[in-house]
Amino acid sequence: MDIKSLIDKLYRTGGLSREEFCEVIGKRDRETEQYARDLACRVREKIYGNNIYIRGLIEFTSYCRNDCYYCGIRRSNHAAERYRLTEEDILNCCAQGYDLGFRTFVLQGGEDGFFTPEKMEKIIKSIKSRYPDCALTLSVGEKEEGTYRIYREAGADRYLLRHETADEAHYRMLHPEELSPEHRKDCLRTLKKLGFQTGAGFMVGSPGQTPETLAEDFFFLRELNPEMAGIGPFIAHKDTPFRQRPDGTLKDTLFYLALLRLMLPEVLLPATTALGTIHPQGRELGVLSGANVIMPNLSPVSVRGKYMLYDRKLSSGAEAAENLEELKHRMENIGCRIVTDRGDAAGWRRNPDKKSEVPEIQRNTI
Ligand code: SAH
Repeated sequence: MDIKSLIDKLYRTGGLSREEFCEVIGKRDRETEQYARDLACRVREKIYGNNIYIRGLIEFTSYCRNDCYYCGIRRSNHAAERYRLTEEDILNCCAQGYDLGFRTFVLQGGEDGFFTPEKMEKIIKSIKSRYPDCALTLSVGEKEEGTYRIYREAGADRYLLRHETADEAHYRMLHPEELSPEHRKDCLRTLKKLGFQTGAGFMVGSPGQTPETLAEDFFFLRELNPEMAGIGPFIAHKDTPFRQRPDGTLKDTLFYLALLRLMLPEVLLPATTALGTIHPQGRELGVLSGANVIMPNLSPVSVRGKYMLYDRKLSSGAEAAENLEELKHRMENIGCRIVTDRGDAAGWRRNPDKKSEVPEIQRNTI
Protein backbone atom coordinates (compact mmCIF):
# COMPACT_ATOMS: atom_id res chain seq x y z
CA MET A 1 0.00 0.00 0.00
CA ASP A 2 1.24 3.53 -0.65
CA ILE A 3 1.82 5.91 2.25
CA LYS A 4 -1.38 7.92 1.71
CA SER A 5 -3.46 4.76 1.75
CA LEU A 6 -1.77 3.72 5.00
CA ILE A 7 -2.55 7.12 6.52
CA ASP A 8 -6.19 6.71 5.44
CA LYS A 9 -6.20 3.22 6.88
CA LEU A 10 -4.88 4.48 10.21
CA TYR A 11 -7.79 6.87 10.48
CA ARG A 12 -10.43 4.48 9.15
CA THR A 13 -9.48 1.52 11.29
CA GLY A 14 -7.70 3.19 14.22
CA GLY A 15 -4.50 1.21 13.81
CA LEU A 16 -1.78 -0.25 11.63
CA SER A 17 0.49 -3.27 11.94
CA ARG A 18 4.03 -2.69 13.23
CA GLU A 19 5.37 -3.11 9.70
CA GLU A 20 2.88 -0.58 8.36
CA PHE A 21 3.77 1.94 11.07
CA CYS A 22 7.46 1.50 10.25
CA GLU A 23 6.73 2.08 6.60
CA VAL A 24 4.70 5.24 7.21
CA ILE A 25 7.30 6.61 9.62
CA GLY A 26 10.32 5.63 7.55
CA LYS A 27 9.12 6.38 4.03
CA ARG A 28 6.86 9.42 4.17
CA ASP A 29 7.84 12.53 2.22
CA ARG A 30 6.80 16.18 2.40
CA GLU A 31 3.63 15.62 0.49
CA THR A 32 2.40 12.71 2.60
CA GLU A 33 3.33 14.57 5.78
CA GLN A 34 1.16 17.47 4.70
CA TYR A 35 -1.62 15.08 3.76
CA ALA A 36 -1.60 13.52 7.25
CA ARG A 37 -1.47 16.91 8.97
CA ASP A 38 -4.39 18.31 6.97
CA LEU A 39 -6.47 15.22 7.61
CA ALA A 40 -5.62 15.35 11.33
CA CYS A 41 -6.63 18.99 11.46
CA ARG A 42 -10.02 18.11 9.99
CA VAL A 43 -10.47 15.26 12.46
CA ARG A 44 -9.71 17.64 15.33
CA GLU A 45 -12.31 20.06 13.97
CA LYS A 46 -14.86 17.32 13.59
CA ILE A 47 -14.51 16.24 17.23
CA TYR A 48 -13.64 19.46 19.02
CA GLY A 49 -14.60 22.21 16.55
CA ASN A 50 -12.16 25.10 16.63
CA ASN A 51 -11.80 24.91 20.42
CA ILE A 52 -8.36 24.96 21.97
CA TYR A 53 -8.24 24.04 25.65
CA ILE A 54 -5.83 25.67 28.05
CA ARG A 55 -4.23 24.26 31.20
CA GLY A 56 -2.35 26.27 33.77
CA LEU A 57 0.95 24.51 34.44
CA ILE A 58 2.34 24.88 37.94
CA GLU A 59 5.86 23.45 38.23
CA PHE A 60 5.88 23.05 41.99
CA THR A 61 9.15 21.22 42.69
CA SER A 62 12.43 20.81 40.85
CA TYR A 63 13.76 18.18 43.27
CA CYS A 64 13.88 14.72 41.77
CA ARG A 65 15.10 11.36 43.03
CA ASN A 66 15.43 10.00 39.49
CA ASP A 67 18.34 10.26 37.12
CA CYS A 68 16.87 10.11 33.60
CA TYR A 69 19.71 10.80 31.17
CA TYR A 70 17.78 13.37 29.15
CA CYS A 71 16.36 15.51 31.93
CA GLY A 72 17.83 18.74 33.27
CA ILE A 73 16.44 18.23 36.78
CA ARG A 74 17.91 14.72 37.18
CA ARG A 75 19.40 14.15 40.60
CA SER A 76 23.00 14.03 39.36
CA ASN A 77 22.77 17.49 37.87
CA HIS A 78 24.35 19.45 40.71
CA ALA A 79 24.20 22.62 38.67
CA ALA A 80 20.38 22.54 38.70
CA GLU A 81 18.75 25.05 41.00
CA ARG A 82 16.28 23.34 43.27
CA TYR A 83 13.11 24.83 44.68
CA ARG A 84 9.79 23.79 46.16
CA LEU A 85 6.61 25.82 46.26
CA THR A 86 4.62 25.94 49.49
CA GLU A 87 0.94 25.08 49.57
CA GLU A 88 0.28 28.79 49.83
CA ASP A 89 2.39 29.51 46.74
CA ILE A 90 0.47 26.84 44.82
CA LEU A 91 -2.88 28.24 45.90
CA ASN A 92 -1.77 31.71 44.85
CA CYS A 93 -0.91 30.34 41.41
CA CYS A 94 -4.38 28.80 41.18
CA ALA A 95 -6.03 32.07 42.25
CA GLN A 96 -4.13 33.96 39.60
CA GLY A 97 -4.93 31.30 37.03
CA TYR A 98 -8.61 31.22 37.91
CA ASP A 99 -8.86 34.99 37.40
CA LEU A 100 -7.21 34.62 34.01
CA GLY A 101 -9.81 32.03 32.99
CA PHE A 102 -8.01 28.73 33.60
CA ARG A 103 -10.27 25.86 34.66
CA THR A 104 -7.64 23.14 34.71
CA PHE A 105 -4.54 23.26 36.87
CA VAL A 106 -1.65 20.91 36.28
CA LEU A 107 0.74 20.27 39.17
CA GLN A 108 3.97 18.97 37.72
CA GLY A 109 7.25 18.23 39.39
CA GLY A 110 10.15 15.90 39.89
CA GLU A 111 9.71 12.84 42.08
CA ASP A 112 10.21 14.71 45.33
CA GLY A 113 9.89 12.70 48.55
CA PHE A 114 9.17 15.89 50.49
CA PHE A 115 5.65 15.83 49.04
CA THR A 116 4.40 12.77 50.91
CA PRO A 117 1.00 11.29 50.05
CA GLU A 118 -0.43 13.14 53.07
CA LYS A 119 0.99 16.50 51.96
CA MET A 120 -0.32 15.97 48.43
CA GLU A 121 -3.70 14.94 49.77
CA LYS A 122 -3.94 18.20 51.67
CA ILE A 123 -2.90 20.29 48.67
CA ILE A 124 -5.31 18.47 46.34
CA LYS A 125 -8.20 18.91 48.78
CA SER A 126 -7.43 22.61 49.25
CA ILE A 127 -7.43 23.23 45.51
CA LYS A 128 -10.55 21.19 44.83
CA SER A 129 -12.52 22.76 47.69
CA ARG A 130 -11.66 26.29 46.53
CA TYR A 131 -12.20 25.51 42.84
CA PRO A 132 -14.80 22.75 42.57
CA ASP A 133 -15.51 23.75 38.98
CA CYS A 134 -11.90 23.12 37.95
CA ALA A 135 -10.12 19.94 36.92
CA LEU A 136 -6.89 19.08 38.69
CA THR A 137 -4.16 17.20 36.85
CA LEU A 138 -1.10 15.72 38.51
CA SER A 139 2.22 14.88 36.87
CA VAL A 140 4.57 13.70 39.56
CA GLY A 141 5.87 10.40 38.26
CA GLU A 142 5.73 6.79 39.35
CA LYS A 143 4.02 5.98 42.67
CA GLU A 144 2.50 3.01 44.45
CA GLU A 145 -1.11 2.20 43.69
CA GLY A 146 -2.06 3.22 47.24
CA THR A 147 -0.58 6.68 46.69
CA TYR A 148 -2.40 7.15 43.38
CA ARG A 149 -5.57 6.10 45.19
CA ILE A 150 -5.03 8.76 47.85
CA TYR A 151 -4.57 11.39 45.13
CA ARG A 152 -7.70 10.22 43.35
CA GLU A 153 -9.85 10.09 46.48
CA ALA A 154 -8.64 13.55 47.46
CA GLY A 155 -10.13 14.77 44.18
CA ALA A 156 -7.42 14.74 41.49
CA ASP A 157 -9.08 14.19 38.11
CA ARG A 158 -6.27 13.56 35.66
CA TYR A 159 -2.68 12.29 35.58
CA LEU A 160 0.09 12.79 33.06
CA LEU A 161 2.82 10.18 32.92
CA ARG A 162 4.60 9.92 29.60
CA HIS A 163 5.67 6.36 28.95
CA GLU A 164 8.78 7.93 27.26
CA THR A 165 9.31 4.92 24.95
CA ALA A 166 7.47 1.63 24.71
CA ASP A 167 10.54 -0.23 23.48
CA GLU A 168 12.40 -2.01 26.27
CA ALA A 169 15.96 -1.59 24.92
CA HIS A 170 15.32 2.05 24.04
CA TYR A 171 13.90 2.71 27.52
CA ARG A 172 17.12 1.31 28.98
CA MET A 173 19.17 3.70 26.85
CA LEU A 174 17.30 6.68 28.28
CA HIS A 175 17.15 5.66 31.93
CA PRO A 176 19.38 4.17 34.62
CA GLU A 177 18.87 0.57 35.63
CA GLU A 178 16.58 1.22 38.58
CA LEU A 179 13.85 2.47 36.26
CA SER A 180 11.92 -0.03 34.20
CA PRO A 181 9.56 0.33 31.26
CA GLU A 182 7.23 -2.31 32.69
CA HIS A 183 6.80 -0.42 35.94
CA ARG A 184 6.03 2.78 34.10
CA LYS A 185 3.46 1.04 31.92
CA ASP A 186 1.94 -0.62 34.98
CA CYS A 187 1.57 2.79 36.58
CA LEU A 188 -0.36 3.98 33.54
CA ARG A 189 -2.69 0.99 33.68
CA THR A 190 -3.23 1.55 37.41
CA LEU A 191 -4.03 5.22 36.85
CA LYS A 192 -6.65 4.27 34.27
CA LYS A 193 -8.11 1.66 36.57
CA LEU A 194 -8.44 4.23 39.35
CA GLY A 195 -10.50 6.45 37.07
CA PHE A 196 -7.97 9.15 36.24
CA GLN A 197 -8.19 10.69 32.80
CA THR A 198 -4.74 9.51 31.89
CA GLY A 199 -2.04 10.90 29.62
CA ALA A 200 0.93 9.01 28.18
CA GLY A 201 3.42 10.07 25.53
CA PHE A 202 7.02 10.30 24.38
CA MET A 203 9.75 12.65 23.26
CA VAL A 204 10.33 12.94 19.52
CA GLY A 205 13.92 12.36 18.44
CA SER A 206 15.20 11.09 21.77
CA PRO A 207 18.60 9.38 21.41
CA GLY A 208 18.15 5.88 20.03
CA GLN A 209 14.64 6.43 18.67
CA THR A 210 13.99 4.59 15.38
CA PRO A 211 10.93 3.87 13.22
CA GLU A 212 10.75 0.53 15.05
CA THR A 213 10.68 2.07 18.55
CA LEU A 214 8.12 4.60 17.34
CA ALA A 215 5.95 1.80 15.96
CA GLU A 216 6.01 0.33 19.50
CA ASP A 217 4.95 3.70 20.89
CA PHE A 218 1.98 3.91 18.57
CA PHE A 219 1.07 0.32 19.32
CA PHE A 220 1.24 0.88 23.04
CA LEU A 221 -0.82 4.07 22.85
CA ARG A 222 -3.44 2.32 20.81
CA GLU A 223 -3.74 -0.40 23.41
CA LEU A 224 -3.74 2.00 26.37
CA ASN A 225 -6.20 4.34 24.66
CA PRO A 226 -5.31 7.30 26.91
CA GLU A 227 -7.48 10.39 27.23
CA MET A 228 -4.39 12.54 26.67
CA ALA A 229 -1.11 12.12 24.80
CA GLY A 230 1.88 14.40 25.25
CA ILE A 231 4.59 14.46 22.64
CA GLY A 232 7.25 17.07 22.04
CA PRO A 233 10.77 17.20 20.64
CA PHE A 234 13.69 16.04 22.75
CA ILE A 235 15.91 19.07 23.43
CA ALA A 236 19.41 18.57 24.83
CA HIS A 237 20.27 19.97 28.24
CA LYS A 238 23.86 21.13 28.68
CA ASP A 239 24.38 19.42 32.04
CA THR A 240 23.13 15.94 31.12
CA PRO A 241 24.78 12.92 29.48
CA PHE A 242 22.83 13.75 26.30
CA ARG A 243 24.25 17.28 26.02
CA GLN A 244 25.71 16.59 22.57
CA ARG A 245 22.71 14.86 21.08
CA PRO A 246 20.72 16.57 18.34
CA ASP A 247 17.29 17.97 19.15
CA GLY A 248 14.13 16.37 17.82
CA THR A 249 12.75 18.17 14.77
CA LEU A 250 9.67 20.22 14.09
CA LYS A 251 8.78 18.19 11.03
CA ASP A 252 8.88 14.85 12.85
CA THR A 253 6.89 16.18 15.81
CA LEU A 254 4.16 17.59 13.57
CA PHE A 255 3.88 14.35 11.65
CA TYR A 256 3.59 12.22 14.79
CA LEU A 257 1.04 14.63 16.27
CA ALA A 258 -1.00 14.09 13.12
CA LEU A 259 -0.70 10.29 13.32
CA LEU A 260 -1.83 10.39 16.94
CA ARG A 261 -4.89 12.49 16.11
CA LEU A 262 -5.79 10.06 13.32
CA MET A 263 -5.31 6.99 15.49
CA LEU A 264 -7.03 8.41 18.61
CA PRO A 265 -9.49 11.00 17.23
CA GLU A 266 -10.81 12.05 20.64
CA VAL A 267 -7.47 12.35 22.41
CA LEU A 268 -6.52 15.62 24.10
CA LEU A 269 -3.26 16.51 22.40
CA PRO A 270 -1.09 19.39 23.57
CA ALA A 271 1.11 21.53 21.37
CA THR A 272 3.88 21.40 23.97
CA THR A 273 6.28 23.98 25.34
CA ALA A 274 9.15 22.01 23.77
CA LEU A 275 7.50 22.41 20.36
CA GLY A 276 7.17 26.14 21.01
CA THR A 277 10.83 26.20 22.02
CA ILE A 278 12.24 24.74 18.80
CA HIS A 279 10.19 26.98 16.50
CA PRO A 280 8.57 30.40 17.02
CA GLN A 281 5.32 29.15 15.43
CA GLY A 282 5.60 25.69 16.93
CA ARG A 283 2.33 25.98 18.84
CA GLU A 284 0.34 27.12 15.82
CA LEU A 285 1.87 24.45 13.60
CA GLY A 286 1.06 21.86 16.26
CA VAL A 287 -2.58 22.91 16.30
CA LEU A 288 -2.62 22.82 12.50
CA SER A 289 -1.41 19.22 12.74
CA GLY A 290 -4.15 18.07 15.11
CA ALA A 291 -3.20 19.37 18.58
CA ASN A 292 -5.95 20.98 20.67
CA VAL A 293 -4.43 21.79 24.07
CA ILE A 294 -1.96 24.43 25.22
CA MET A 295 -0.43 24.53 28.67
CA PRO A 296 0.86 28.00 29.54
CA ASN A 297 3.16 28.41 32.51
CA LEU A 298 1.45 29.49 35.71
CA SER A 299 4.39 29.01 38.07
CA PRO A 300 5.56 32.04 40.05
CA VAL A 301 7.83 34.13 37.83
CA SER A 302 10.64 33.81 40.39
CA VAL A 303 11.01 30.04 39.81
CA ARG A 304 10.27 29.79 36.10
CA GLY A 305 13.91 29.76 35.09
CA LYS A 306 14.64 26.94 37.52
CA TYR A 307 12.42 24.19 36.13
CA MET A 308 14.87 23.63 33.31
CA LEU A 309 14.13 20.24 31.79
CA TYR A 310 16.08 21.25 28.67
CA ASP A 311 18.06 24.23 27.36
CA ARG A 312 16.22 27.39 26.20
CA LYS A 313 12.90 26.18 27.66
CA LEU A 314 10.35 28.93 27.07
CA SER A 315 8.42 30.47 29.93
CA SER A 316 7.74 34.00 28.73
CA GLY A 317 5.70 35.53 25.90
CA ALA A 318 2.72 33.41 24.89
CA GLU A 319 4.09 30.61 27.12
CA ALA A 320 3.28 32.69 30.19
CA ALA A 321 -0.22 32.37 31.62
CA GLU A 322 -0.44 36.13 32.19
CA ASN A 323 -0.05 36.70 28.45
CA LEU A 324 -3.19 34.83 27.54
CA GLU A 325 -4.29 37.68 25.28
CA GLU A 326 -1.30 37.11 23.04
CA LEU A 327 -2.06 33.40 22.89
CA LYS A 328 -5.71 34.15 22.07
CA HIS A 329 -4.67 36.36 19.15
CA ARG A 330 -2.25 33.80 17.87
CA MET A 331 -4.92 31.10 17.93
CA GLU A 332 -7.49 33.41 16.30
CA ASN A 333 -5.02 34.01 13.50
CA ILE A 334 -5.22 30.34 12.62
CA GLY A 335 -9.01 30.15 12.95
CA CYS A 336 -9.13 28.72 16.46
CA ARG A 337 -10.38 30.00 19.79
CA ILE A 338 -9.26 29.48 23.34
CA VAL A 339 -12.07 28.15 25.49
CA THR A 340 -12.09 28.16 29.25
CA ASP A 341 -14.23 25.20 30.25
CA ARG A 342 -12.51 22.24 31.92
CA GLY A 343 -12.05 20.61 28.55
CA ASP A 344 -12.53 16.95 29.42
CA ALA A 345 -11.85 14.41 26.69
CA ALA A 346 -14.82 13.98 24.34
CA GLY A 347 -15.45 10.32 25.17
CA TRP A 348 -15.13 11.05 28.85
CA ARG A 349 -17.76 13.77 28.70
CA ARG A 350 -20.22 11.44 27.05
CA ASN A 351 -19.85 8.76 29.61
CA PRO A 352 -17.27 8.98 32.38
CA ASP A 353 -18.22 5.72 34.09
CA LYS A 354 -18.82 3.26 31.28
CA LYS A 355 -16.27 4.27 28.74
CA SER A 356 -15.92 0.83 27.27
CA GLU A 357 -19.62 0.76 26.44
CA VAL A 358 -19.44 3.92 24.40
CA PRO A 359 -19.87 3.04 20.75
CA GLU A 360 -16.87 3.58 18.50
CA ILE A 361 -17.04 6.98 16.86
CA GLN A 362 -17.77 7.11 13.17
CA ARG A 363 -14.40 7.20 11.51
CA ASN A 364 -15.34 7.13 7.86
CA THR A 365 -17.05 10.45 7.32
CA ILE A 366 -14.05 12.56 6.34
N1 SAH B 1 8.53 13.66 37.06
C1 SAH B 1 7.37 13.67 36.20
C2 SAH B 1 7.37 14.84 35.26
C3 SAH B 1 8.48 14.79 34.28
S1 SAH B 1 8.82 16.25 33.36
C4 SAH B 1 7.29 12.35 35.49
O1 SAH B 1 8.12 11.48 35.73
O2 SAH B 1 6.37 12.16 34.71
C5 SAH B 1 7.69 16.04 32.03
C6 SAH B 1 8.25 15.50 30.73
O3 SAH B 1 9.26 16.34 30.20
C7 SAH B 1 8.90 14.15 30.78
O4 SAH B 1 7.96 13.13 30.82
C8 SAH B 1 9.77 14.14 29.52
O5 SAH B 1 9.13 13.46 28.45
C9 SAH B 1 9.93 15.63 29.20
N2 SAH B 1 11.35 15.99 29.16
C10 SAH B 1 12.29 15.78 30.10
N3 SAH B 1 13.51 16.15 29.65
C11 SAH B 1 13.34 16.58 28.38
C12 SAH B 1 14.21 17.06 27.36
N4 SAH B 1 15.53 17.15 27.56
N5 SAH B 1 13.67 17.43 26.18
C13 SAH B 1 12.36 17.35 25.97
N6 SAH B 1 11.49 16.89 26.88
C14 SAH B 1 11.96 16.50 28.07
